[in-house]
Amino acid sequence: MIKTARTNESTTPRVAIVGAGIAGLTALQDLSASGAHVTVFDKSRGSGGRISSKKVGESSWDMGAQFMRAHTPEFAVELDHWSNKGWVAEWPVTPWIIDEHGATPSPDNARRFVGVPRMTGLSRGLLEAAAEFITQTRIVSTEFINNEKSGQWYLNDDNNNRHGPFDSLVINVPPEQALPLLPVDSPFIEQIQNYTMQPCWTLLLGFAEPLTTEIDAAFVKTGPLAWIARNTSKPGRHDQASASDEWVIQATHEWSQQHVDASREDVFAHLTQAFAESLGGQLPDTQDTWLHRWLFSIPTQAPELGAFHDNAHNLAICGDWCQHGSIEGAWISGKAAAQRLLEQ
Ligand SMILES: Cc1cc2nc3c(=O)[nH]c(=O)nc-3n(C[C@H](O)[C@H](O)[C@H](O)COP(=O)(O)OP(=O)(O)OC[C@H]3O[C@@H](n4cnc5c(N)ncnc54)[C@H](O)[C@@H]3O)c2cc1C
Repeated sequence: MIKTARTNESTTPRVAIVGAGIAGLTALQDLSASGAHVTVFDKSRGSGGRISSKKVGESSWDMGAQFMRAHTPEFAVELDHWSNKGWVAEWPVTPWIIDEHGATPSPDNARRFVGVPRMTGLSRGLLEAAAEFITQTRIVSTEFINNEKSGQWYLNDDNNNRHGPFDSLVINVPPEQALPLLPVDSPFIEQIQNYTMQPCWTLLLGFAEPLTTEIDAAFVKTGPLAWIARNTSKPGRHDQASASDEWVIQATHEWSQQHVDASREDVFAHLTQAFAESLGGQLPDTQDTWLHRWLFSIPTQAPELGAFHDNAHNLAICGDWCQHGSIEGAWISGKAAAQRLLEQ
């Protein structure tokens, strides 16, 4: 049960979640089911964080996370639940491996799911549980005001607006961005300072003519690339595509780190060339292109601690970086954040 310090008005607990990523939106489900009035803030125009989609031409591309899969029975159940809600669908793809010997199919038993009709179909569905979703609002500082019964949070945004009071706070932002939001006497500052994230250059290429390859998705084990996928092979994407064949191309974290400050032109040329080589041929003319640099793509560590919980401040801190770098990791962390606030 969430503590509330307010006595002279509604006693419905009020919770703020900073960050509408999968971890924050997962915490939202359990907090709102417990009866709390939950307000979600995000600096972006939409929800989803690193599962975001990018509109290029008439198409929405999966620019961040490519698919989700379960390594735990609990998350497998959740994927089926999201599928029944129509927020995700199974992507029946056979991944290939591309290495120095060439390309070979690498079938496995994994069930891969994607948000429909784009990855953010999932975050939009999860957001239905929010009392309010306040977008394009970067929270830059927080205040915790102690009183006899408990304490209350106020949040300050980058337009000098003050939001609150809230009885509890969930912070779901990458570690570097979480630090300025913590109370000065937070016991977690030193630990969180040690967490880091890795960059990832991501290229989107749309072709007027389909590429002549059987491959729809491949893990690349050679050169600068880590992953290539035909976005239009995912459920719900093809009919909305502006080009007839659309690909997402991701560089390795190592290559992205080495080229983190390289010019966009150089990165574009390098990754396009590597993509052509990975498919063993020339590429036709592109119709749509986009290049994105994720500075905080995947955490370097996998501490598997669920979430940080600060009972004295009615505060939980969550994100994949508290667990491991995947949608499943973010989900586990968001569940832990809500559970700890509800148990306190
Ligand atoms: C290129 C790439 C490929 C990936 N591929 C996969 C994959 O195939 N499968 C998989 O399982 N995972 C993949 N991942 C990882 C997966 O996307 C993440 O693990 C997961 O989405 C993280 O969710 P989160 O809630 O922890 O954080 P985030 O998604 O980062 O959410 C944090 C949110 O906080 C907001 N925010 C930040 N600061 C503030 C502030 N001050 N005020 C307000 N809002 C703020 C951000 O806008 C964001 O919406 C990939 C990630 C990337 C980047």
